[in-house]
Amino acid sequence: MTTAAIIVAAGRGTRAGGDLPKQWQRLGDRCVAAHAMQAFAAHPGIDQLILVLHPDDVDSDLWPRDPVASIVTGGATRRMSVLAGLHAAAGRADRVLIHDAARPLVTAAIIDRVLAALDSHAGAAPAVAVTDTLWHGQNDHVTGLQDRSGLYRAQTPQGFHLVPLLAAHRANTDDATDDVAVARAAGLDVAIVAGDEENIKITTPGDFARASKLMGLQMDIRCGNGYDVHRFGPGDHVWLCGVKLPHDRSLQGHSDADVGMHAITDAIYGALGMGDIGQHFPPSDPQWKGAASHIFLEHAVALATEQGYRISNTDCTLICETPKIGPHQAAMKTALAQIMGLAADRISVKATTSERLGFTGRGEGIAAQATVTLVKP
Ligand code: MG
Repeated sequence: MTTAAIIVAAGRGTRAGGDLPKQWQRLGDRCVAAHAMQAFAAHPGIDQLILVLHPDDVDSDLWPRDPVASIVTGGATRRMSVLAGLHAAAGRADRVLIHDAARPLVTAAIIDRVLAALDSHAGAAPAVAVTDTLWHGQNDHVTGLQDRSGLYRAQTPQGFHLVPLLAAHRANTDDATDDVAVARAAGLDVAIVAGDEENIKITTPGDFARASKLMGLQMDIRCGNGYDVHRFGPGDHVWLCGVKLPHDRSLQGHSDADVGMHAITDAIYGALGMGDIGQHFPPSDPQWKGAASHIFLEHAVALATEQGYRISNTDCTLICETPKIGPHQAAMKTALAQIMGLAADRISVKATTSERLGFTGRGEGIAAQATVTLVKP
């Protein structure tokens, strides 16, 4: 059984305010649609991701390249956009989950419930039972009560077996607001599974604040610190934060002795609670002799990514009397940005002397300390 997630992101919705359609507006560290896509990309029951775009957006840099999705151009209406997604899935998937790109808080548990219900139903969709009292009103006056029993608020993803849904869509000419309506018009059985109050659809400007708050509560934020020292010895250059600086001495060490990069690397391992450089790259192992330190940093970044974390920022302080760091700060940030796959404005490299006190003050070596923040959305 192969399941595709179709993320419908072709709308132009502007009720949410801002210059861009709501699915491309930023929420936390990425756009709204990217959060929705990530939930499906990370789910073991989903085999492929299809992103339906508005024709104007296809050549833009608005839509996320990560996670990777097949790109499909949508139609003039939501139903036509879904149909384009279904055509893309046809022959490649047996089941589809159709999700609104503007619901960034969909959870693995909701996806689980929809998938499970599809084992015994043609369709399944999450919903939340209405618990508020419902009124009829006119001119700001209550004119009556509406019985709320049996009323639900519909959510997405709405899941279906592909072949009958595709037939239902082809036979349908109305501009239905959702796929459940299309499926039911064709006589398909659609089960209701438990949705989640937090699986909100971004519609108004206030929804961004609400979604950020909900996301903040779920976010796993970790801090790590690293500290390293290397002594000076004979030589004519030092490596610091990925940049080779001419100097009248060199830092001694098993690797290239890039003390700044080591501190950042250890900060990442520290945040993950996964040891330190010495454990991952033992100095006793000859293969790391003279190694370029970006190998260590790349390893730590990959480990963080594997664990589902994204590096939010890093701040490194180099402690030395010489060489002068200031003229090289920008190059160091660029080098680290490249190795860490991080925007340069999320990287800080600072330097301080120690007022000629201690081993750094006497010029016997360089110390570095670093902090990093890791975020798991
Ligand atoms: Mg070191």
